[in-house]
Order: sequence, then structure tokens, then C-alpha cells
Amino acid sequence: MADPHAQGPAGGSALPHSRTPALPHSDVILPGATVGIVGGGQLGRMFALEARRMGYRVLVLDPGRDSPAAQVADDCIVASFDDTAAMRALAERSDVVTLEWENADVATLREIERIVPVRPGPGVLEVAQHRLREKDTARALGLLTAGYRAVATRAELRDALAEIGTPAVLKTARWGYDGKGQAVIRDPSEADAAFAVVTGGADDGPAELILEEWVRFSAEISVVCARTARGETACFPVAENVHKSAILDVSIVPARVPASVADEARRLAEAMAEGLGVVGLLAVEMFVGEDGHVRMNEIAPRPHNSGHYTLEACPVSQFEQQLRAVCGLPLGSTGLLRPAAMVNLMGDDAGTALGRPGVVPALSVPETALHLYGKAEARPGRKMGHLTALGDTPDEALERALRARALLVDGAG
Ligand code: AMP
Repeated sequence: MADPHAQGPAGGSALPHSRTPALPHSDVILPGATVGIVGGGQLGRMFALEARRMGYRVLVLDPGRDSPAAQVADDCIVASFDDTAAMRALAERSDVVTLEWENADVATLREIERIVPVRPGPGVLEVAQHRLREKDTARALGLLTAGYRAVATRAELRDALAEIGTPAVLKTARWGYDGKGQAVIRDPSEADAAFAVVTGGADDGPAELILEEWVRFSAEISVVCARTARGETACFPVAENVHKSAILDVSIVPARVPASVADEARRLAEAMAEGLGVVGLLAVEMFVGEDGHVRMNEIAPRPHNSGHYTLEACPVSQFEQQLRAVCGLPLGSTGLLRPAAMVNLMGDDAGTALGRPGVVPALSVPETALHLYGKAEARPGRKMGHLTALGDTPDEALERALRARALLVDGAG
């Protein structure tokens, strides 16, 4: 019987409904096999393009009919992430399942793990979905983080503020991304208002919140680390990140930090990947404190926006590396071929919609590559694409990337 969730993409042939018989659970998953991916956003799209280039078949599960990844994958299951039957169908039709979205249902992933390898495993997601568990894990591994306290009620918030001091930032432990579910507290008198903001107006708890010390940082940086089931690891160069309204705006590579800081950052990312037993990718966001030490902020067990530069600037991209790691292939070289800068194209900018003429002047900037994610509707706060520019120095790459973006936006017409 036809799978009710299956949706063959335009022009693509539907995949067989069972995975390749000779390969399940073998150590190495070779080209020709099917990689299932939970999530159909831009990370899944770039992963699918790389995987198909290497001869793999890609099956996407996403609630959207025309998701960025489904547009370029072999096939797509249109279903919500907590649809157990659909997730089981994904498992049954894949040789390995990976993800581009870490808020998938852990219990469902545990269930499908009996059918197919899930990489990274559900245990990694359980930590990555929860800011308190992330920081507890880092501390247990002897790594630095901002000072923090678990907070469930208004009274606990007041106690935590007395210990941590101000300024501080109150965040939801779960479902926070791009600055959502956060409130900065500059003075203890703001505690009740912050509690109301992050809990969506709750009178009192219990809520799952974390209060963090406000880190006075000299830079925000990130590292994408890959790890295989055999325990081999490889870190990409350190990216220096600039955020706008708590959303990544610009990444500059190599990060303009001392070599000792970059080494500390890579060691931290590797320690987290090893400590969690990641098979796949782990992106780690960090602060460089004014004391010159690196503090772990957040992890994501998948490719990361700050790692997009690897498509042009490294021998192997973060997406190919994810594929290699989850398929048990040797990890690729992660050296930097050229300094690079990546700028996001947000839905707020009129020029970022598909089919806008600003693309023409933007592409006249040397060594600049355009990525658009196939999203028809440009909405504020929505990532529509990105530009990566290379240069002789990080500053030259940054100047080119910013110039290309300005031309793209201004030339929107
Ligand atoms: P997050 O969702 O934790 O990545 O936070 C979004 C952005 O808010 C970060 O990239 C920082 O710019 C800022 N931020 C978050 N937490 C802190 C903190 N404890 N200290 C200083 N800045 C922070």
C-alpha cells in the first residue's frame, strides 16, 4: 500500500519503501544507501545537496509540503515530528537517520533507534534540548560556562538573583533559539516582569527556567566538531560571530582572537562532543570572556549557521562532514583554504526574496557565493539565504560579504 505521508518531489522518482537490504547496521554506510533526515529547513537542504553529490539518496521528514530540503531531496514524508507512524516510516526506509533540527521528540527517536541507527543519538538531543543540562554537562566535564541557577518560581528567581547578581539573563530551559524566551534583568526590581515575559504571563511556576550571569565578552565564537562512531574527531576553524537582535548576522573566519583562545575553543568543542558521545556534528557556541577564557554557551547537535562558510572555504563542508560522520566514512580535512565571511540574508530585507534583481550587482563582488533556501515568502526574522565571501584576510572577506549584501538589498527594485 502506498505510504500516505510520501510525497514525491517534482521530477524526482519515489524511493523504494524499504532500505537497502545488504547494508542495515553495518559499520560503513556506502553511497547508494538512503539517509533519512529529520527536519527540512536550510540545513537539511544543504546536507541533501552534498549527500546527493556523493551518490546517497536522501529522504526528508518535515511538516511543510515544500520545505527547503524537500525541494532537493529524493523524497519527503510530510508529517509532524511527533507523528510516530511517520517517524517509523522514515526509519524503515532509511539506512541511517540524522537530523537538522534538535527539537525532535526524544521518545520517538528512542523507538525508531530499534529499527535504524539514529546519529547523533537521542541521549545527545536530550541534553541539547535543555539549557540546564547543557551547562551541567559542560561543568561535569570541567569546562567553563557563565554562572547559572535553575529557576522554577518567582521566589527562586529572587534567590538566584541574589547569588548571581545583575545584570543577568533569564531564559526558558527548553525551546529557546535566536533569543526567543529570554529577558535581560538589569536590576532585581525587574525580576517579576522578566518572569512574566519568559513564561508567557504565568502567575508563578513551576517553570523550567535558567538564570545566567551576564558575561562581559570580547567576542562570540563557535566551533563545529565532527565525531565518528569510532571516536575520531575533527574540528572546523573557529568562527567569530556577530548577532543582531540575538540572531546570527555575520560570521568571520578565522576568528580574530589569539591562537591560544582558538585552541581553547577547539578543545572545549571536542571535549563536549566526546563527553556526549556524539556521532555526527556538534556545534558549540561560546563567549570569549574579558579574562581571555572561553565559556560554553550553547550546543547544537547538527550543522550550524556559523559553519556555512565551510562550503566555500574548507576542503570538506560541515554538511559533507556530517554525512561522513553518520555513515562511518573517514572524516575530511577541515583546514581553512581562504579567510571567509558569511552574512545572513533575512526576510526583513526586501531584496532577499527569490527573483529580486539585487542579486545581479551582488554577484559582481569577487569571490562571493550566493545561497538562497528556496523559501517563497520573506518574513521578518526568517533566514532566507546567506552570502559567503572569501578574501586574502578576514577583514577583506568581511568587507566583500557586507558589500555584496548591501548591493543585494539596495538593488531590490
Ligand atoms: P542564546 O540563545 O543563548 O544563544 O543567546 C542569544 C544571544 O544573546 C547570544 O548570542 C548573546 O549575544 C546573548 N547572550 C545570551 N546569553 C548571554 C549571557 N549569559 N551573557 C551575555 N550575553 C548573552
